[in-house]
Amino acid sequence: MTAQLIDGNALSKQLRGDIARRAAALSARGATPGLAVVLVGENPASQVYVRNKVKACQDSGLHSVLEQYPATLSEADLLARVDALNRDPAIHGILVQLPLPAHIDAQKVIEAISPAKDVDGFHVASAGALMVGQPGFWPCTPYGCMKMLESIGYELKGKHAVVIGRSNIVGKPMALMLLQKNATVTICHSGTQNLKALTLQADVVVAAVGKRNVLTADMVKPGAVVIDVGMNRNDEGKLCGDVDFGGVKDVAGWITPVPGGVGPMTITMLLVNTLEAAEMAPTVARSA
Ligand code: NAP
Repeated sequence: MTAQLIDGNALSKQLRGDIARRAAALSARGATPGLAVVLVGENPASQVYVRNKVKACQDSGLHSVLEQYPATLSEADLLARVDALNRDPAIHGILVQLPLPAHIDAQKVIEAISPAKDVDGFHVASAGALMVGQPGFWPCTPYGCMKMLESIGYELKGKHAVVIGRSNIVGKPMALMLLQKNATVTICHSGTQNLKALTLQADVVVAAVGKRNVLTADMVKPGAVVIDVGMNRNDEGKLCGDVDFGGVKDVAGWITPVPGGVGPMTITMLLVNTLEAAEMAPTVARSA
């Protein structure tokens, strides 16, 4: 292996120490940061994700509430719950776990969350703020990727970054964050022709597709930084990313593993966003 590992578990541990200290300081002033996680339906993967998020809150001294509803919950009832959480002063961040059942308009629910509590960063107000470079909540996964680049002291200015994937929650915000740091950014998607020709030019590749082996060793410039957002299962049922880790680690300069890479960083940035929402909450800000 020539590449150095960017260890998401180790970086998360370090960042969570700071989060716990800041959360304790808020708690001492009677303003414990609070996250509400709303889960509709019985999707097994979603159940694991929400449990991990709630546990991460508890481990770092944040207050968390898990609201679980059957898949039959109506859109109106879900919107009413979001409205109540918007007005709850003990809750600073609201996360509605996606995907939602088909009869619920997910975008409508996201837009119902107060932008001040939009710790997932999916509201159009958050997306717009990122677009124009104003303060706002950044989506946790690409935010975590940026923290990983920061952790290795990587200077993005003038570098060519290739983002594979253009979803609203990963690919597009990732590209905007890289652009904000003055990288030259190429966004690839399912219609991109000759992906390899583009990735071979990249100093940084972020793979956010959801398909195994989207990025193989022959597609990577020697020394490049490779960030693997993908979460897939291999033939043995084990978690793996979009990157052929075994091959790419011998070409890249830096690489994130799956598991233990972007995944833990995503939850860590959710804690950061919730903490910052609490620090900016009117009652806390007034007494600061
Ligand atoms: P998504 O909404 O399904 O988007 C996937 C993107 O990949 C789309 O833009 C799609 O292009 C593009 N794509 C599909 N096939 C491609 C190909 N052969 N070549 C190039 N691009 C291709 O997925 P997502 O929500 O962004 O998530 C992506 C992956 O990251 C998934 O594995 C997901 O589980 C994982 N993820 C991980 C974390 C974490 O915490 N580690 C968090 C979020 C997501 P089109 O737009 O043209 O369809």
